[in-house]
This record gives sequence, structure tokens and C-alpha cells, in this order.
Amino acid sequence: MGNWFMSVECDLGWVDTHCHLDAAEFGQHAARERQRAAQAGVRCCVLPAVSVQTFDAVRRLAHAHGDGYCLGVHPLYVADAADDALACLERALQQHIDDPHLLAVGEIGLDFFVPELCREPLRAKQIAFFKAQLALARRFDLPVVLHSRRAEDAVHAHLRAALPGAGRWRGIAHAFSGSQQQAASIVALGMKLGFGGAATFERATRLRSLLRAVDVHSIVVETDAPDIAPQWLYVQAHARESGQAQGVNSPSELPRIGAVLASLRDTPVDEFARATCINACEALPRLAALLGTAGAVAQHAH
Ligand SMILES: [Zn+2]
Repeated sequence: MGNWFMSVECDLGWVDTHCHLDAAEFGQHAARERQRAAQAGVRCCVLPAVSVQTFDAVRRLAHAHGDGYCLGVHPLYVADAADDALACLERALQQHIDDPHLLAVGEIGLDFFVPELCREPLRAKQIAFFKAQLALARRFDLPVVLHSRRAEDAVHAHLRAALPGAGRWRGIAHAFSGSQQQAASIVALGMKLGFGGAATFERATRLRSLLRAVDVHSIVVETDAPDIAPQWLYVQAHARESGQAQGVNSPSELPRIGAVLASLRDTPVDEFARATCINACEALPRLAALLGTAGAVAQHAH
């Protein structure tokens, strides 16, 4: 894909590289939410699956709105995954490998933040699922969309171990929150780093310094909607105790989140949108073709 194509197609808005539009919080309003996002300037959304049960939903939504999807089993869903979940994933990849909307294997990874998942037998099950899904990504020559909490070094080690020789990965370390050194090692493997609502909080000083320190070519933007509400939607614990629900993040927040991230880096907003769009296409190469059609789909929906 030449730069000329990308420079044309990437001048027109944002790519939400991580958005759970199929989540129960959106329910039957998913189409309306996607429409609002398009009106706010979101060209394309990437919808990662979290379990075998969500494979059909992300594929259907992606096709309906000119978006991309990923197939995989999320580490938080590994505990409840059936014995044949990996076989189901393999079959689904085989069946849809030629679908231009299928962008990656994801969301996969390791979560050592949740205590039960750090104890056996779930710890071993998480690791086994992650390794098997990395192997499937290599076999089908697809990028990976990664989830990692308190597990950056382990995730890196497994990525490294799954690479033949001097090979490189493509994909996104979503909601990255490791150290600058961990960021550098995962970028060295070919990955991009996903930033979103977490960096909109003034108290997120460590994450904000990381955002300022990494090379612009390594950054993609995401909402992780309905989760990771930005500061302006976040409901404090005391307000939640008195009955107020936590704010629901949505892909239409991406332009505002992106503007905050751009200002933290002292970059003009349109330049940042364009750079992160090109980076998203590098991380998920099939996205470039979708960006050529997403605008047409959004217009038809009006
Ligand atoms: Zn996610």
C-alpha cells in the first residue's frame, strides 16, 4: 500500500482501534452509537471479540458499518471458555480468512491484575490460550490485538518466543500501561501502542509521560468503549455509592480523547489524527482498504 493512498484516505478522521460495540451496554443502540461516532469524525472502528460467543456479533456489526473486527478469546473470558474454544477459533479463522473486514486475532493476552486469574489452574490456562492464539495468528498470517495488565514482561516473552528467527509482529498492545522500557521492547517487536481515555486524567502522570516519550509512529488511539471512560464521563466512587451509574464510554468520544492526547504531545490535532490513522493501517494492514469504503458506508446510512 503506497503512501499516496494513505495520505489521501487518512486526512478524513479518526480510527477507533479498540471498541466493543457489541457489548451489552450498547445493545440494540449499537447502530445509533456507530452513527454518532461517524458524525463526530470516526472513520472506522475495530471491534475485537472477547469470546467465541461474540464472534458472530463483531463480524455482523463490522460488516454493517464498514468496520473491522478481530477474532480471539480475551484473558478475562478464558476461565469460562469451553474445551473446544480454541478449535472454534481455528475454524472461524479458516472460514473468514478471506473476509476483508477480519483484521487480526484478538483480543488476546494475559491479565495478572485479577487475583483469581493469577492462581492455578487459571494462570496456566490463560498462558496456554495466549500461546495457542499467538500460534494461530502466525499460521494465518494475521496481526494481534493484545490485552495486558500487570503482565507486560510475560506478554513480551511469549511474543518473542512465538517468532521464528528475526521475524516481527504486527498489531496493537491495547491500553498499554507499562514502563518506557517495556514500551520500547514491544515496539521493537513491531507492535504499536494503544492510548485512550486513561491518559485524559490529570493524575495519570506516568501514562502521560509515556505518551509524550514514545515516537509518534508507535501510537494508535482507541476508546475501549464502553469501558475506560475519559475524565469528563468518569463518575467518582462516592457518586457511584449514592446510586449514580458509571459513565458509558462510546466511540463518538474518540475525537475529543484524541484532541487531549494531541495537546499533551503538543501536536496539532489534525496531524495527530492523520499520523495515528496511518499507524493503525501499519498495525492492521487490511484496515487501509476499509478506510477507502468506510466513508461511503457512513453516507449511505444517513
Ligand atoms: Zn477490549
